[in-house]
Amino acid sequence: MSEQRVPCVAGLFSETDGKAVVHGSRCTSCNTPYFPKTSHCHNPGCDESNVEDYDFGGKGVLWSYSVADFPPPPPHKYDEPFKPYVIGVVDLDAGLRMVGQMIDPLEAVQIGAQVELVIDTLYHEDGKAHTSWKFKQLQN
Ligand SMILES: [Zn+2]
Repeated sequence: MSEQRVPCVAGLFSETDGKAVVHGSRCTSCNTPYFPKTSHCHNPGCDESNVEDYDFGGKGVLWSYSVADFPPPPPHKYDEPFKPYVIGVVDLDAGLRMVGQMIDPLEAVQIGAQVELVIDTLYHEDGKAHTSWKFKQLQN
């Protein structure tokens, strides 16, 4: 029996047939991407706010990263014992710059690497795997 997977926060992301996306918005007037969703465009140079739902996913490039060396405070949850992890800042090919935990260990992470958005386990609770979006480096 495979483990039941549930999103850590409902409505932010989904996975269909192994394809992961985060649910955001894009202004069709000025093309500015948003995640999470927004009700109107925040670009001061945009004359006409026309915001539509937009799913961001696929590949991108690791722009920068930081390392979480200590456990995050509540309400964040994690599996014991805490293991340090890498938080990446990624420029998705779809134009969105976003933050996400890296699956790869620190010694493997390289700025400029091609990465892919994935859904992966964040922590376990009540016999379920609670998931979030993460980034995974692709082999060159
Ligand atoms: Zn706009």
